Amino acid sequence: MKKQGKLIVFSAPSGSGKTTIVKNLLTRDLGLEFSISAASRKPREGEVNGKDYYFLSPEDFKNKADNGEFLEWEEVYTDNYYGTLKSEVERIWEKGNTVVFDIDVIGGLNIKKQFSNNTLAVFVKPPSVEELRVRLEGRGTETAEKIEMRLAKAEEEISYSKDFDYVLINDNLEVAQNEASELIVKFIEK
Ligand code: 5GP
Repeated sequence: MKKQGKLIVFSAPSGSGKTTIVKNLLTRDLGLEFSISAASRKPREGEVNGKDYYFLSPEDFKNKADNGEFLEWEEVYTDNYYGTLKSEVERIWEKGNTVVFDIDVIGGLNIKKQFSNNTLAVFVKPPSVEELRVRLEGRGTETAEKIEMRLAKAEEEISYSKDFDYVLINDNLEVAQNEASELIVKFIEK
């Protein structure tokens, strides 16, 4: 890859408030730009190609993977591939911006491994698994069975938090957002 800039990874179990934190940080004047992933699933209602994801057919996705066009990719669900294109990261660095990722724990650690000197990896942690249960139940979007699945997955994901540079506890959203912002300012100045 050409000249490298910086990267910031946010990973977290579902329901920990990661996406809200990332969206807030992107509105601040920190020189951050969101890395749009490629995905082989169909767009959901309201999702826009080139904004939410680069939506590819499974064949296109596989061809790009075979050509080595991804920094990392995973089959998150059967036949649903997700990945970070090298061209996306280059596009953002070219503008002098810092790349921000909102991806799963494995993908996040994969990025960290490849760019250990210029990546800040942040794990967003709910105050407790019990609190996560309250939030997921409060959302009312998931069946009881799905909630149990997500909680089991969350426990597994939390076990990886020790491999991240920073664990951000999201107890109070505003406090967590400000803490993340201060962390980023320090990291970019370094
Ligand atoms: P969704 O289909 O709900 O948008 O995303 C499903 C999962 O794919 C989420 O856990 C999300 O973090 C993960 N994901 C999204 N983009 C990427 C990516 O570029 N790489 C990896 N490894 N996972 C991703």
